[in-house]
Amino acid sequence: MTKVSPLEVHKLLPRTNCKKCGNASCMAFAVKLVSGKAYLDECPTINEARYLRQKLALKELISKVLAATPTKFVIHEERCTGCGNCVDACPANVAVSLEVSGGKGSASKDVVLKIEDGVVKVVNVKACRRFEEDASESRPCSVCVDSCPYKAIEFM
Ligand code: SF4
Ligand code: SF4
Ligand code: SF4
Repeated sequence: MTKVSPLEVHKLLPRTNCKKCGNASCMAFAVKLVSGKAYLDECPTINEARYLRQKLALKELISKVLAATPTKFVIHEERCTGCGNCVDACPANVAVSLEVSGGKGSASKDVVLKIEDGVVKVVNVKACRRFEEDASESRPCSVCVDSCPYKAIEFM
């Protein structure tokens, strides 16, 4: 499980506290970034050439925050080959539609995971076993994560 903390983000920011982003400090900006209330583009300083590596690392970190579903499911599209292993293995998918087992996500019904344009997509997060309006009711499941040979899925 990965969790993005403001401290992790802060380490990668320029840490000049220049306030050009409109925040009192880089730490204040980091707190907003991890809660999706600010965007990296709002920091002009990170665009300086000397911060290029940090900027790329930040983008990767923050994409986890932005891409997470209510179940904290994150897909790393750059690693996903669209092989469909997770789609076939997901017990909730099979419960929604038997077509899915062996079908590489071609089921017409609202399954949790589906292959679209060569990568896996979450199409019906509410059917996922981890989804519950009341988080204490959700059931632990990591079948999709375990079935991916490319580590393209994780739960934050
Ligand atoms: S603009 Fe960037 S470097 Fe300046 S305070 Fe904001 S986050 Fe820090
Ligand atoms: S956590 Fe379980 S139910 Fe949810 S998408 Fe993954 S395999 Fe399917
Ligand atoms: S997430 Fe992994 S298992 Fe699922 S389609 Fe992509 S590469 Fe295959």
